[in-house]
Amino acid sequence: MSIEKTSSKYEKPIPLKTIDNKPYWDAADQHELAIQSCEDCKRAIHPPGPACPHCGSPTIEWINYGSDVTGTIYSFVMTYVPMLPGFQHDLPTIIAQVEVDQMEGVRITANLINAAPEEVAIGKAVKMTWIDITEDRALPQWALMK
Ligand SMILES: [Zn+2]
Repeated sequence: MSIEKTSSKYEKPIPLKTIDNKPYWDAADQHELAIQSCEDCKRAIHPPGPACPHCGSPTIEWINYGSDVTGTIYSFVMTYVPMLPGFQHDLPTIIAQVEVDQMEGVRITANLINAAPEEVAIGKAVKMTWIDITEDRALPQWALMK
């Protein structure tokens, strides 16, 4: 059994590790991206699950893509009211769905950080970056490539 450490400074929800997503978050904690891949149809799978959503195969492997991850903004939302506790200090919160360059068909949703609202647009190039939220947890985020 593992016990999640929580920082007194970090007020936002910390993603829970589950049997399906643990390798994703373990890689994120090391500032790397790991994505499931179907061993039968060879397609990438995200978000993680117990079986391939494309062909139903339960034979899945994890591929680590390292720390050099880029993509293109497919869609985004911007909120000026905090939807969850802890977000009241970084408004507007910009959440981007990004098509990842390194794997076809995978879109990853995460906060877009360090961007002014007027800089954000569909089609813009972004790079994955990680922020350390506790001693042993990190979150993948998107940042505009400038
Ligand atoms: Zn498959």
